[in-house]
Amino acid sequence: MSQPLFLQLAIPVPMRQLFTYSVPESLQNNEFAIGERVIVPFGNRQVIGIILAVSNKTEFAQEKLKPITSKVTAHHKIPLPLTQLLMTCARYYHHPIGDVFQQALPVLLRQVDNITLAPTLYWQCQPLTDETQEIELAKLTTRATKQQQLYHLISNHQQLSWPEIRTLGFSKTQLSALEKKQLIVSTEKESEPFQWHSDSLNQQDELNLSAEQAVIVSAVSQLLKQYSCHLVDGITGSGKTEVYLQTMTKVLSQNQQVLVLVPEIGLTPQTLNRFEQRFNVPIFLHHSGLNDKERLATWHNAYQGNAAIVIGTRSAIFTPLPDLGLIIVDEEHDASFKQQDSFRYHGRDVAILRAKQLNIPIILGSATPSFESLHNALNAKYHYHRLTKRAGGSTEAKIALIDVANQPLEFGLSRPLKQLITNTLARGEQVLVFLNRRGFSPAINCQECHWVANCQRCERPYTLHRSQGLLICHHCASQKRVPPQCPDCGSIRIKPVGQGTEQIEEYLSEHFNHHSTVRIDRDSTRRKGELNKLLQQVSNKEHQILIGTQMLAKGHHFPDVTLVAILDIDGALFSFDYRAAENMAQLIVQVAGRAGRASKPGKVIIQTQYPQHPLLQDLVNNGYQHFAQQGLTERQMALLPPFGYQALFRADANYPSYPEKFLRQLSQINLNDCEIAGPMPAAIEKRAGKYRYHLIVQAKSRTALHQGISQLINHIPNNEWQTKVRWSVDIDPQDL
Ligand code: ADP
Ligand code: ZN
Ligand code: ZN
Repeated sequence: MSQPLFLQLAIPVPMRQLFTYSVPESLQNNEFAIGERVIVPFGNRQVIGIILAVSNKTEFAQEKLKPITSKVTAHHKIPLPLTQLLMTCARYYHHPIGDVFQQALPVLLRQVDNITLAPTLYWQCQPLTDETQEIELAKLTTRATKQQQLYHLISNHQQLSWPEIRTLGFSKTQLSALEKKQLIVSTEKESEPFQWHSDSLNQQDELNLSAEQAVIVSAVSQLLKQYSCHLVDGITGSGKTEVYLQTMTKVLSQNQQVLVLVPEIGLTPQTLNRFEQRFNVPIFLHHSGLNDKERLATWHNAYQGNAAIVIGTRSAIFTPLPDLGLIIVDEEHDASFKQQDSFRYHGRDVAILRAKQLNIPIILGSATPSFESLHNALNAKYHYHRLTKRAGGSTEAKIALIDVANQPLEFGLSRPLKQLITNTLARGEQVLVFLNRRGFSPAINCQECHWVANCQRCERPYTLHRSQGLLICHHCASQKRVPPQCPDCGSIRIKPVGQGTEQIEEYLSEHFNHHSTVRIDRDSTRRKGELNKLLQQVSNKEHQILIGTQMLAKGHHFPDVTLVAILDIDGALFSFDYRAAENMAQLIVQVAGRAGRASKPGKVIIQTQYPQHPLLQDLVNNGYQHFAQQGLTERQMALLPPFGYQALFRADANYPSYPEKFLRQLSQINLNDCEIAGPMPAAIEKRAGKYRYHLIVQAKSRTALHQGISQLINHIPNNEWQTKVRWSVDIDPQDL
């Protein structure tokens, strides 16, 4: 008889432990190693477990252990470095290990059914051999601009996959049209390991670096194959992307891989396009617009070493890459890098962990670095690089304030602002009006009895979406029809209160009816391909007035926009959340950065009731850098992050007293080097019918914080309210 064999497994359940199973003799001829997947019974289901330890001994009574059902034969073993990274994450975020693996791996790898991957389909241009092709090509140039663009895109590349083409903003219809005209063909290709060739780089595309840029590329290049973290703090348009590209060249040309994290790919196809333009290498994508098979294909090709570059959003950080040589986190300040539910990791922070673990460099880039990163850079924990000039000689937009405290507003717009819009339009230039609130109005009320339409489940006003005739709760997404009468007093005088983008659009399109207006927010771009269409129209100058939410603050360049108007940021000036000011400043500077490229200088106007507010004054007069340093000084005095370390215990339940009592009992536990504040209601106290409370745990050192959190978690089984609430821990919380 062979030796008994026991496996410790991560299983997708919300428990902070590994589970031990035995291997029946009939299966012992298989190889069982860390990272392999097995199928095991759990309750009355069969689930996938990932092996995290293998042993011939166990502390449990052998006959009590269940045997595994089988081993997953598909060859996707989770590589050891990735397994270790995920184990570190589970410890760092105090999150159940099984759920960490569950969330980090593609859906199809977590399913019991075996999956087969079809080879990737690539598109190429047909050689032009017959006359009909020539004719079709000539026709393209006169009409069908989108097809023509797609044809050029494909002809610039040796090969492009459908996910790449789609992410760059093209449709299946456009692709099929070109195929029918016999201008392009698709071929199935088994991918092979990436090898750098002489034509992997499109040399004509390379720009001559400015002195500032060159210093950064050479600094990173001299530190390859060891850990170093570089913050590239460069204003919008200063050439950060060019720095990434040329640094990547050094890494790729040694046949190493590069991982690029971006906040949202769909919003910034221009960035992806530049990567595609520069390199003729296999690029694989990872984002929410891909289906499960496509995501698995990226994982698989990365795992096999076929991918040269992986570009993706937050969870792309968990892509296996056997010879990863560089990680880039673009727009590192962006809030979307933090996952806001269950496994609340921060993609940028995990990226830094991974770079350390693999001993490779990482670049963080932003025009508005997070206070955390800036602090680390100023303390020489990171290499600090600045790009202070816009490439190509255009100047940065100037920010000015309009005092709206004592003047009438028409639909949220002041008279001086309307005058500026008129003047800009008269010069034939474009205007961008920014308001971070979609819908028609953030509330409706009764003019007679002051009743407000509230979502019962959140106790917050409904947002009016007038074009759909609906009230929609922006906290829980519940909807209802607009009532014809006040339910309290029967009056029909129900009116919108305040402005959302829909209303501003309506007003501006009436007021400036000789110009075309376009709204870009989550509502207007819901349909697939719509965003790209609208952006294309803007760059074709089919619209002169753009209205939008923070979707417009990200990545896009609007060279003909010379006036940016920012409405209604005052809330952030008085928020109880200490990060609100930082986020406000980032938003203003990012929106401002969209304007005035090329030769036309831009102007940025902020409407505010508080033009004398020191935060605004500092930002406008001294710029983001100075603002951030002031902010850091304030945080230091208050011992707030990054000068102290925080975690949040969150709890919710159907009754407010449950989470409150649960957290109160937790807060009475004595911790050595941590301070506890709360329990207190969350900023959104009720959401979707659940009452939400939290407890803030704060410490001067990370070690103390982690010890404190572990201690609290260990006490939870004894908490008499624990079965009545749902609770979670949020390490380094980004919002309260
Ligand atoms: P960022 O990523 O900092 O916003 P980009 O890399 O997109 O900046 O550069 C902004 C613009 O300046 C782009 O059109 C780019 O082609 C151009 N650019 C960047 N670096 C250079 C350079 N060294 N010489 C000339 N143009 C440059
Ligand atoms: Zn009423
Ligand atoms: Zn609601």
